[in-house]
Amino acid sequence: MADMKQYVQDVLDLVKKRDPDQEEFQNTVKEVLTTVVPLLEKNPQYKEAKILERMIEAERIITFRVPWQDDKGEIQINRGYRVQMNSAIGPYKGGLRFHPSVNLSILKFLAFEQVFKNALTGLPIGGGKGGSDFDPKGKSDNEVMHFCQSFMTELVRHIGPNVDVPAGDIGVGGREIGYLFGQYKRIRDSYDAGVLTGKGVDYWGSLARTEATGYGLLYFVKNMLDAKGIDLKGKTVVVSGSGNVATYAIEKAQTFGAKVVTCSDSNGYVYDPDGIDLDAVKEIKQVRRGRIKEYAATHPKAEYHEGCKDVWTVKCDIALPCATQSEIDLESAKALVANGVQAVGEGANMPSTLDAIAYFQQNKILFAPAKAANAGGVATSALEMAQNSERLQWTFEEVDGKLNGIMKNIYESAKKNAEAYADPDDLVAGANITAFKKVADVMMVHGLV
Ligand code: NDP
Repeated sequence: MADMKQYVQDVLDLVKKRDPDQEEFQNTVKEVLTTVVPLLEKNPQYKEAKILERMIEAERIITFRVPWQDDKGEIQINRGYRVQMNSAIGPYKGGLRFHPSVNLSILKFLAFEQVFKNALTGLPIGGGKGGSDFDPKGKSDNEVMHFCQSFMTELVRHIGPNVDVPAGDIGVGGREIGYLFGQYKRIRDSYDAGVLTGKGVDYWGSLARTEATGYGLLYFVKNMLDAKGIDLKGKTVVVSGSGNVATYAIEKAQTFGAKVVTCSDSNGYVYDPDGIDLDAVKEIKQVRRGRIKEYAATHPKAEYHEGCKDVWTVKCDIALPCATQSEIDLESAKALVANGVQAVGEGANMPSTLDAIAYFQQNKILFAPAKAANAGGVATSALEMAQNSERLQWTFEEVDGKLNGIMKNIYESAKKNAEAYADPDDLVAGANITAFKKVADVMMVHGLV
Protein backbone atom coordinates (compact mmCIF):
# COMPACT_ATOMS: atom_id res chain seq x y z
CA MET A 1 0.00 0.00 0.00
CA ALA A 2 2.84 2.38 0.92
CA ASP A 3 4.30 1.94 -2.55
CA MET A 4 1.09 2.99 -4.32
CA LYS A 5 0.44 5.81 -1.87
CA GLN A 6 3.88 7.13 -2.75
CA TYR A 7 3.17 6.72 -6.47
CA VAL A 8 -0.02 8.79 -6.09
CA GLN A 9 1.84 11.41 -4.04
CA ASP A 10 4.53 11.65 -6.73
CA VAL A 11 1.86 12.26 -9.37
CA LEU A 12 0.15 14.89 -7.20
CA ASP A 13 3.53 16.61 -6.73
CA LEU A 14 3.98 16.55 -10.49
CA VAL A 15 0.60 18.22 -11.03
CA LYS A 16 1.51 20.92 -8.51
CA LYS A 17 4.93 21.48 -10.00
CA ARG A 18 3.65 21.79 -13.54
CA ASP A 19 0.68 24.04 -12.77
CA PRO A 20 1.24 25.56 -9.33
CA ASP A 21 -1.59 28.08 -9.70
CA GLN A 22 -4.27 25.55 -10.76
CA GLU A 23 -5.78 24.89 -7.35
CA GLU A 24 -9.16 23.54 -8.52
CA PHE A 25 -7.44 21.09 -10.85
CA GLN A 26 -5.02 19.97 -8.14
CA ASN A 27 -7.93 19.38 -5.74
CA THR A 28 -9.94 17.24 -8.11
CA VAL A 29 -6.91 15.16 -9.11
CA LYS A 30 -6.17 14.64 -5.41
CA GLU A 31 -9.77 13.64 -4.70
CA VAL A 32 -9.76 10.98 -7.43
CA LEU A 33 -6.25 9.59 -7.12
CA THR A 34 -6.11 9.22 -3.34
CA THR A 35 -9.24 7.08 -3.40
CA VAL A 36 -8.00 4.65 -6.07
CA VAL A 37 -4.90 3.51 -4.13
CA PRO A 38 -6.48 0.12 -3.18
CA LEU A 39 -7.28 -0.50 -6.86
CA LEU A 40 -3.73 0.41 -7.92
CA GLU A 41 -2.43 -2.00 -5.32
CA LYS A 42 -4.29 -4.87 -6.98
CA ASN A 43 -3.41 -3.70 -10.50
CA PRO A 44 0.30 -2.82 -10.69
CA GLN A 45 0.07 -2.78 -14.50
CA TYR A 46 -1.48 0.71 -14.30
CA LYS A 47 1.67 2.07 -12.68
CA GLU A 48 3.93 0.33 -15.17
CA ALA A 49 1.94 1.90 -18.03
CA LYS A 50 2.05 5.34 -16.32
CA ILE A 51 -1.73 5.55 -16.54
CA LEU A 52 -1.96 8.24 -13.85
CA GLU A 53 0.62 10.45 -15.53
CA ARG A 54 -1.30 10.08 -18.80
CA MET A 55 -4.70 10.78 -17.25
CA ILE A 56 -3.62 14.07 -15.67
CA GLU A 57 -2.42 15.44 -18.99
CA ALA A 58 -5.19 16.62 -21.34
CA GLU A 59 -5.01 15.10 -24.81
CA ARG A 60 -5.41 18.62 -26.20
CA ILE A 61 -6.19 22.12 -24.90
CA ILE A 62 -7.33 24.87 -27.21
CA THR A 63 -7.48 28.54 -26.17
CA PHE A 64 -8.64 31.22 -28.53
CA ARG A 65 -9.64 34.86 -28.94
CA VAL A 66 -13.36 35.64 -29.12
CA PRO A 67 -13.92 39.12 -30.56
CA TRP A 68 -17.46 40.55 -30.74
CA GLN A 69 -19.30 43.84 -30.84
CA ASP A 70 -21.75 44.96 -28.13
CA ASP A 71 -24.99 46.90 -28.69
CA LYS A 72 -23.18 50.21 -28.33
CA GLY A 73 -20.88 49.25 -31.17
CA GLU A 74 -17.91 48.77 -28.82
CA ILE A 75 -15.48 45.95 -29.48
CA GLN A 76 -15.17 43.30 -26.75
CA ILE A 77 -12.56 40.55 -26.52
CA ASN A 78 -13.10 37.39 -24.46
CA ARG A 79 -11.06 34.26 -24.10
CA GLY A 80 -12.44 30.90 -25.27
CA TYR A 81 -11.30 27.40 -24.27
CA ARG A 82 -11.87 23.75 -25.02
CA VAL A 83 -10.14 21.10 -22.91
CA GLN A 84 -10.18 17.72 -24.68
CA MET A 85 -9.20 15.61 -21.71
CA ASN A 86 -9.64 11.94 -22.55
CA SER A 87 -11.17 10.11 -25.52
CA ALA A 88 -10.49 6.51 -24.47
CA ILE A 89 -14.12 5.42 -24.39
CA GLY A 90 -15.72 7.82 -26.87
CA PRO A 91 -15.68 11.30 -28.40
CA TYR A 92 -14.93 14.10 -25.94
CA LYS A 93 -18.16 15.11 -24.23
CA GLY A 94 -18.81 17.87 -21.74
CA GLY A 95 -20.40 21.27 -21.35
CA LEU A 96 -19.47 24.83 -22.13
CA ARG A 97 -19.44 27.34 -19.27
CA PHE A 98 -19.83 31.07 -19.82
CA HIS A 99 -18.98 32.85 -16.57
CA PRO A 100 -16.47 35.56 -15.61
CA SER A 101 -14.72 33.15 -13.22
CA VAL A 102 -13.82 30.72 -16.04
CA ASN A 103 -10.09 29.98 -16.31
CA LEU A 104 -7.95 27.02 -17.30
CA SER A 105 -7.77 25.57 -13.80
CA ILE A 106 -11.55 25.43 -13.48
CA LEU A 107 -12.00 23.95 -16.95
CA LYS A 108 -9.30 21.33 -16.39
CA PHE A 109 -10.93 20.35 -13.10
CA LEU A 110 -14.31 20.06 -14.80
CA ALA A 111 -12.87 18.13 -17.75
CA PHE A 112 -11.04 15.70 -15.44
CA GLU A 113 -14.24 15.10 -13.45
CA GLN A 114 -16.14 14.67 -16.69
CA VAL A 115 -13.94 11.81 -17.88
CA PHE A 116 -14.90 9.70 -14.86
CA LYS A 117 -18.49 10.87 -14.69
CA ASN A 118 -19.01 9.91 -18.31
CA ALA A 119 -17.43 6.51 -17.72
CA LEU A 120 -19.89 5.94 -14.85
CA THR A 121 -22.88 6.37 -17.15
CA GLY A 122 -21.91 3.19 -19.00
CA LEU A 123 -22.36 5.06 -22.30
CA PRO A 124 -19.64 5.50 -24.97
CA ILE A 125 -18.44 9.05 -24.22
CA GLY A 126 -15.01 10.49 -23.40
CA GLY A 127 -14.50 13.66 -21.36
CA GLY A 128 -13.98 17.34 -22.14
CA LYS A 129 -15.08 20.79 -21.04
CA GLY A 130 -14.90 24.31 -22.40
CA GLY A 131 -16.22 27.81 -22.16
CA SER A 132 -15.32 31.42 -21.84
CA ASP A 133 -14.93 34.24 -19.33
CA PHE A 134 -17.86 35.93 -21.11
CA ASP A 135 -20.70 36.88 -18.74
CA PRO A 136 -24.16 36.48 -20.35
CA LYS A 137 -25.76 38.18 -17.34
CA GLY A 138 -27.12 41.60 -18.26
CA LYS A 139 -26.39 41.12 -21.97
CA SER A 140 -29.09 41.49 -24.61
CA ASP A 141 -30.12 38.51 -26.76
CA ASN A 142 -28.38 40.24 -29.65
CA GLU A 143 -25.10 40.49 -27.73
CA VAL A 144 -25.31 36.86 -26.61
CA MET A 145 -25.91 35.83 -30.23
CA HIS A 146 -22.92 37.80 -31.51
CA PHE A 147 -20.71 36.32 -28.83
CA CYS A 148 -21.91 32.75 -29.52
CA GLN A 149 -21.37 33.16 -33.26
CA SER A 150 -17.82 34.39 -32.75
CA PHE A 151 -17.10 31.63 -30.22
CA MET A 152 -18.36 28.94 -32.62
CA THR A 153 -16.47 30.41 -35.59
CA GLU A 154 -13.29 29.15 -33.93
CA LEU A 155 -14.67 26.12 -32.04
CA VAL A 156 -16.17 24.63 -35.23
CA ARG A 157 -12.81 23.32 -36.41
CA HIS A 158 -12.26 21.32 -33.20
CA ILE A 159 -15.63 19.58 -32.75
CA GLY A 160 -17.92 17.13 -34.57
CA PRO A 161 -20.43 14.36 -33.79
CA ASN A 162 -17.61 11.77 -33.65
CA VAL A 163 -14.89 14.10 -32.34
CA ASP A 164 -16.12 16.33 -29.55
CA VAL A 165 -19.71 17.05 -28.53
CA PRO A 166 -20.18 20.11 -26.27
CA ALA A 167 -23.35 20.91 -24.30
CA GLY A 168 -24.53 23.55 -21.80
CA ASP A 169 -23.29 24.33 -18.31
CA ILE A 170 -23.38 27.49 -16.16
CA GLY A 171 -24.43 30.40 -18.38
CA VAL A 172 -25.11 28.18 -21.39
CA GLY A 173 -28.74 27.14 -21.72
CA GLY A 174 -31.17 26.61 -24.58
CA ARG A 175 -30.72 30.12 -25.99
CA GLU A 176 -26.94 29.83 -26.24
CA ILE A 177 -27.03 26.27 -27.63
CA GLY A 178 -29.43 27.51 -30.33
CA TYR A 179 -27.07 30.30 -31.43
CA LEU A 180 -24.04 28.00 -31.29
CA PHE A 181 -25.76 25.32 -33.36
CA GLY A 182 -27.01 27.85 -35.92
CA GLN A 183 -23.48 29.13 -36.52
CA TYR A 184 -21.99 25.62 -36.67
CA LYS A 185 -24.57 24.60 -39.26
CA ARG A 186 -23.96 27.72 -41.31
CA ILE A 187 -20.19 27.27 -41.43
CA ARG A 188 -20.23 23.51 -42.03
CA ASP A 189 -23.22 23.62 -44.37
CA SER A 190 -24.25 20.28 -42.90
CA TYR A 191 -26.97 19.29 -40.44
CA ASP A 192 -24.72 17.46 -37.95
CA ALA A 193 -27.36 17.31 -35.21
CA GLY A 194 -25.13 15.21 -32.95
CA VAL A 195 -22.45 17.91 -32.65
CA LEU A 196 -24.12 19.59 -29.67
CA THR A 197 -26.53 18.35 -27.03
CA GLY A 198 -29.10 20.26 -25.04
CA LYS A 199 -30.72 21.32 -28.31
CA GLY A 200 -34.36 22.40 -28.48
CA VAL A 201 -36.81 19.52 -28.97
CA ASP A 202 -37.90 20.98 -32.32
CA TYR A 203 -34.43 20.63 -33.77
CA TRP A 204 -33.30 17.16 -32.65
CA GLY A 205 -33.02 17.80 -28.91
CA SER A 206 -34.05 15.09 -26.48
CA LEU A 207 -37.16 15.25 -24.38
CA ALA A 208 -36.21 15.19 -20.68
CA ARG A 209 -32.68 16.55 -21.29
CA THR A 210 -33.58 19.84 -19.61
CA GLU A 211 -34.81 18.02 -16.52
CA ALA A 212 -32.19 15.25 -16.54
CA THR A 213 -29.46 16.50 -14.19
CA GLY A 214 -31.88 17.57 -11.45
CA TYR A 215 -34.13 14.52 -11.84
CA GLY A 216 -31.10 12.22 -12.00
CA LEU A 217 -29.76 13.69 -8.77
CA LEU A 218 -32.99 12.83 -7.00
CA TYR A 219 -33.06 9.31 -8.48
CA PHE A 220 -29.54 8.77 -7.14
CA VAL A 221 -30.31 10.23 -3.71
CA LYS A 222 -33.47 8.13 -3.49
CA ASN A 223 -31.48 4.95 -4.19
CA MET A 224 -28.99 5.96 -1.49
CA LEU A 225 -31.74 6.68 1.06
CA ASP A 226 -33.82 3.61 0.17
CA ALA A 227 -30.81 1.39 0.88
CA LYS A 228 -30.82 2.78 4.42
CA GLY A 229 -34.59 2.53 4.81
CA ILE A 230 -34.99 6.34 4.82
CA ASP A 231 -38.08 7.78 3.09
CA LEU A 232 -37.67 11.01 1.10
CA LYS A 233 -41.31 11.80 1.67
CA GLY A 234 -41.82 14.50 4.28
CA LYS A 235 -38.11 15.41 4.46
CA THR A 236 -37.01 19.05 4.57
CA VAL A 237 -34.60 19.84 1.76
CA VAL A 238 -32.25 22.79 1.28
CA VAL A 239 -31.30 23.49 -2.34
CA SER A 240 -28.80 26.09 -3.55
CA GLY A 241 -28.93 27.65 -7.01
CA SER A 242 -31.95 28.41 -9.15
CA GLY A 243 -30.60 27.47 -12.55
CA ASN A 244 -31.12 24.34 -14.60
CA VAL A 245 -29.94 21.76 -12.06
CA ALA A 246 -31.55 23.39 -9.03
CA THR A 247 -34.92 23.91 -10.74
CA TYR A 248 -35.42 20.29 -11.72
CA ALA A 249 -33.93 18.95 -8.50
CA ILE A 250 -36.60 20.94 -6.67
CA GLU A 251 -39.28 19.66 -9.05
CA LYS A 252 -38.41 15.98 -8.54
CA ALA A 253 -37.87 16.38 -4.78
CA GLN A 254 -41.38 17.82 -4.56
CA THR A 255 -42.75 14.97 -6.69
CA PHE A 256 -41.22 12.54 -4.19
CA GLY A 257 -43.08 14.35 -1.40
CA ALA A 258 -40.17 16.27 0.12
CA LYS A 259 -40.46 19.91 1.21
CA VAL A 260 -37.85 22.16 -0.38
CA VAL A 261 -37.48 25.35 1.65
CA THR A 262 -34.70 27.29 -0.11
CA CYS A 263 -33.12 28.22 -3.41
CA SER A 264 -30.54 30.86 -4.28
CA ASP A 265 -28.53 32.73 -6.87
CA SER A 266 -25.12 34.35 -6.63
CA ASN A 267 -26.59 37.35 -4.73
CA GLY A 268 -28.52 35.57 -1.97
CA TYR A 269 -31.07 32.95 -0.99
CA VAL A 270 -34.77 32.74 -0.27
CA TYR A 271 -36.23 30.70 2.58
CA ASP A 272 -39.90 29.81 2.25
CA PRO A 273 -41.27 27.89 5.26
CA ASP A 274 -44.30 26.83 3.17
CA GLY A 275 -42.05 25.18 0.59
CA ILE A 276 -40.63 26.80 -2.55
CA ASP A 277 -43.23 27.77 -5.16
CA LEU A 278 -41.42 26.40 -8.20
CA ASP A 279 -43.68 28.04 -10.78
CA ALA A 280 -42.67 31.42 -9.34
CA VAL A 281 -38.96 30.49 -9.52
CA LYS A 282 -39.34 29.38 -13.15
CA GLU A 283 -41.14 32.64 -14.01
CA ILE A 284 -38.37 34.73 -12.40
CA LYS A 285 -35.40 32.77 -13.71
CA GLN A 286 -36.48 31.21 -17.00
CA VAL A 287 -38.92 33.80 -18.31
CA ARG A 288 -37.77 37.14 -16.88
CA ARG A 289 -34.09 36.20 -16.31
CA GLY A 290 -34.44 38.07 -13.00
CA ARG A 291 -32.91 37.76 -9.53
CA ILE A 292 -34.14 35.33 -6.86
CA LYS A 293 -34.68 38.29 -4.53
CA GLU A 294 -37.87 39.03 -6.51
CA TYR A 295 -39.46 35.86 -5.06
CA ALA A 296 -39.89 37.43 -1.62
CA ALA A 297 -41.91 40.33 -3.08
CA THR A 298 -44.76 38.00 -4.05
CA HIS A 299 -44.46 35.48 -1.20
CA PRO A 300 -45.06 37.29 2.11
CA LYS A 301 -43.90 34.42 4.34
CA ALA A 302 -40.63 34.01 2.43
CA GLU A 303 -37.43 35.67 3.64
CA TYR A 304 -34.67 36.89 1.35
CA HIS A 305 -31.11 36.83 2.71
CA GLU A 306 -28.30 38.65 0.98
CA GLY A 307 -25.24 36.36 0.48
CA CYS A 308 -25.69 32.77 -0.66
CA LYS A 309 -23.34 30.93 1.74
CA ASP A 310 -25.67 31.15 4.74
CA VAL A 311 -28.17 28.92 2.98
CA TRP A 312 -26.30 26.03 4.66
CA THR A 313 -27.27 27.31 8.12
CA VAL A 314 -30.94 26.53 7.36
CA LYS A 315 -32.04 23.41 9.24
CA CYS A 316 -32.75 20.46 6.94
CA ASP A 317 -32.68 16.68 6.55
CA ILE A 318 -31.17 16.73 3.07
CA ALA A 319 -28.86 19.28 1.44
CA LEU A 320 -28.58 19.53 -2.35
CA PRO A 321 -25.89 21.98 -3.51
CA CYS A 322 -26.81 22.79 -7.12
CA ALA A 323 -25.08 26.12 -7.83
CA THR A 324 -21.33 25.95 -8.26
CA GLN A 325 -17.96 24.61 -7.06
CA SER A 326 -16.71 24.98 -3.44
CA GLU A 327 -20.00 26.37 -2.15
CA ILE A 328 -19.92 24.09 0.93
CA ASP A 329 -16.72 24.61 2.90
CA LEU A 330 -15.83 23.09 6.26
CA GLU A 331 -17.72 25.79 8.16
CA SER A 332 -20.89 25.17 6.13
CA ALA A 333 -20.48 21.40 6.55
CA LYS A 334 -20.24 21.87 10.32
CA ALA A 335 -23.41 23.99 10.31
CA LEU A 336 -25.29 21.34 8.33
CA VAL A 337 -24.16 18.51 10.62
CA ALA A 338 -24.94 20.53 13.76
CA ASN A 339 -28.46 21.05 12.39
CA GLY A 340 -28.99 17.32 11.88
CA VAL A 341 -28.54 16.85 8.14
CA GLN A 342 -28.86 13.16 7.16
CA ALA A 343 -27.76 13.23 3.53
CA VAL A 344 -25.96 15.48 1.06
CA GLY A 345 -26.38 15.07 -2.71
CA GLU A 346 -24.13 17.06 -5.01
CA GLY A 347 -25.99 18.47 -8.02
CA ALA A 348 -23.28 20.98 -8.93
CA ASN A 349 -19.74 19.95 -9.83
CA MET A 350 -17.45 19.70 -6.78
CA PRO A 351 -19.67 21.93 -4.60
CA SER A 352 -18.12 20.55 -1.40
CA THR A 353 -14.50 21.25 -0.54
CA LEU A 354 -12.30 18.26 0.32
CA ASP A 355 -12.35 19.04 4.06
CA ALA A 356 -16.14 19.40 3.95
CA ILE A 357 -16.45 15.94 2.35
CA ALA A 358 -14.13 14.48 4.98
CA TYR A 359 -16.24 16.07 7.72
CA PHE A 360 -19.45 14.59 6.30
CA GLN A 361 -17.83 11.18 6.11
CA GLN A 362 -16.43 11.36 9.64
CA ASN A 363 -19.93 12.18 10.86
CA LYS A 364 -21.49 9.30 8.89
CA ILE A 365 -23.60 11.61 6.73
CA LEU A 366 -24.80 9.84 3.58
CA PHE A 367 -22.89 11.56 0.79
CA ALA A 368 -23.66 11.37 -2.95
CA PRO A 369 -20.63 12.72 -4.86
CA ALA A 370 -21.14 14.92 -7.90
CA LYS A 371 -19.56 12.73 -10.51
CA ALA A 372 -22.06 10.00 -9.73
CA ALA A 373 -25.07 11.98 -8.53
CA ASN A 374 -25.18 14.58 -11.31
CA ALA A 375 -24.24 12.23 -14.15
CA GLY A 376 -27.86 12.12 -15.33
CA GLY A 377 -27.36 15.24 -17.44
CA VAL A 378 -24.52 13.91 -19.51
CA ALA A 379 -26.12 10.45 -19.65
CA THR A 380 -29.19 11.99 -21.24
CA SER A 381 -26.94 13.97 -23.58
CA ALA A 382 -25.54 10.62 -24.72
CA LEU A 383 -29.13 9.45 -25.22
CA GLU A 384 -29.68 12.60 -27.30
CA MET A 385 -26.67 11.61 -29.44
CA ALA A 386 -28.15 8.12 -29.86
CA GLN A 387 -31.49 9.59 -30.97
CA ASN A 388 -29.66 11.89 -33.41
CA SER A 389 -27.84 8.91 -34.94
CA GLU A 390 -31.14 7.06 -35.27
CA ARG A 391 -32.87 10.20 -36.61
CA LEU A 392 -35.68 9.49 -34.18
CA GLN A 393 -37.04 11.16 -31.08
CA TRP A 394 -37.96 9.05 -28.07
CA THR A 395 -40.86 9.94 -25.76
CA PHE A 396 -40.31 11.78 -22.48
CA GLU A 397 -41.25 8.63 -20.56
CA GLU A 398 -38.78 6.50 -22.51
CA VAL A 399 -35.88 8.87 -21.86
CA ASP A 400 -36.84 9.43 -18.22
CA GLY A 401 -37.15 5.67 -17.70
CA LYS A 402 -33.68 5.08 -19.14
CA LEU A 403 -32.32 7.91 -16.97
CA ASN A 404 -33.82 6.32 -13.86
CA GLY A 405 -32.21 2.98 -14.78
CA ILE A 406 -28.82 4.59 -15.46
CA MET A 407 -28.83 6.38 -12.08
CA LYS A 408 -29.71 3.09 -10.35
CA ASN A 409 -26.80 1.36 -12.11
CA ILE A 410 -24.41 4.15 -11.16
CA TYR A 411 -25.49 3.92 -7.53
CA GLU A 412 -25.19 0.13 -7.49
CA SER A 413 -21.76 0.01 -9.13
CA ALA A 414 -20.40 2.74 -6.82
CA LYS A 415 -21.81 0.92 -3.80
CA LYS A 416 -20.37 -2.40 -4.96
CA ASN A 417 -16.88 -0.99 -5.33
CA ALA A 418 -17.15 0.92 -2.05
CA GLU A 419 -17.89 -2.42 -0.39
CA ALA A 420 -15.05 -4.16 -2.24
CA TYR A 421 -12.31 -1.55 -1.75
CA ALA A 422 -13.23 0.98 0.94
CA ASP A 423 -15.78 1.84 3.63
CA PRO A 424 -19.08 0.30 2.38
CA ASP A 425 -20.81 3.71 2.56
CA ASP A 426 -17.99 5.63 0.90
CA LEU A 427 -19.57 6.40 -2.46
CA VAL A 428 -16.79 8.87 -3.26
CA ALA A 429 -14.26 6.05 -3.36
CA GLY A 430 -16.78 3.65 -4.90
CA ALA A 431 -17.60 5.98 -7.81
CA ASN A 432 -13.97 6.92 -8.42
CA ILE A 433 -12.82 3.31 -8.46
CA THR A 434 -15.62 2.18 -10.79
CA ALA A 435 -14.90 4.96 -13.27
CA PHE A 436 -11.12 4.89 -13.02
CA LYS A 437 -11.01 1.16 -13.68
CA LYS A 438 -13.12 1.48 -16.80
CA VAL A 439 -11.07 4.32 -18.29
CA ALA A 440 -7.71 2.81 -17.28
CA ASP A 441 -8.53 -0.60 -18.74
CA VAL A 442 -9.50 0.90 -22.11
CA MET A 443 -6.36 3.07 -22.12
CA MET A 444 -4.33 -0.10 -21.60
CA VAL A 445 -6.09 -1.79 -24.53
CA HIS A 446 -5.34 1.17 -26.83
CA GLY A 447 -1.62 1.07 -26.13
CA LEU A 448 0.63 4.08 -25.66
CA VAL A 449 -1.37 6.87 -27.35
P1 NDP B 1 -27.13 27.61 -14.42
O1 NDP B 1 -26.34 28.69 -15.05
O2 NDP B 1 -28.43 27.23 -15.02
O3 NDP B 1 -27.40 27.96 -12.89
C1 NDP B 1 -26.36 28.20 -12.01
C2 NDP B 1 -26.95 28.67 -10.68
O4 NDP B 1 -25.91 28.78 -9.73
C3 NDP B 1 -27.59 30.03 -10.77
O5 NDP B 1 -28.61 30.09 -9.82
C4 NDP B 1 -26.43 30.94 -10.40
O6 NDP B 1 -26.81 32.20 -9.91
C5 NDP B 1 -25.76 30.15 -9.33
N1 NDP B 1 -24.33 30.48 -9.26
C6 NDP B 1 -23.43 30.50 -10.29
N2 NDP B 1 -22.21 30.87 -9.86
C7 NDP B 1 -22.35 31.08 -8.54
C8 NDP B 1 -21.46 31.47 -7.54
N3 NDP B 1 -20.17 31.75 -7.80
N4 NDP B 1 -21.94 31.57 -6.27
C9 NDP B 1 -23.26 31.28 -6.00
N5 NDP B 1 -24.14 30.90 -6.91
C10 NDP B 1 -23.69 30.81 -8.16
O7 NDP B 1 -26.16 26.35 -14.32
P2 NDP B 1 -26.53 24.83 -14.11
O8 NDP B 1 -27.72 24.70 -13.22
O9 NDP B 1 -26.55 24.18 -15.43
O10 NDP B 1 -25.23 24.28 -13.36
C11 NDP B 1 -25.10 24.32 -11.94
C12 NDP B 1 -23.98 23.38 -11.52
O11 NDP B 1 -24.30 22.06 -11.95
C13 NDP B 1 -22.61 23.68 -12.11
O12 NDP B 1 -21.62 23.28 -11.16
C14 NDP B 1 -22.55 22.76 -13.30
O13 NDP B 1 -21.22 22.47 -13.69
C15 NDP B 1 -23.25 21.54 -12.75
N6 NDP B 1 -23.80 20.61 -13.72
C16 NDP B 1 -24.71 21.01 -14.66
C17 NDP B 1 -25.25 20.10 -15.53
C18 NDP B 1 -26.34 20.46 -16.48
O14 NDP B 1 -26.86 19.56 -17.13
N7 NDP B 1 -26.73 21.71 -16.58
C19 NDP B 1 -24.78 18.69 -15.55
C20 NDP B 1 -23.90 18.36 -14.46
C21 NDP B 1 -23.39 19.31 -13.62
P3 NDP B 1 -26.72 33.50 -10.87
O15 NDP B 1 -27.96 33.46 -11.70
O16 NDP B 1 -26.67 34.64 -9.92
O17 NDP B 1 -25.46 33.38 -11.68
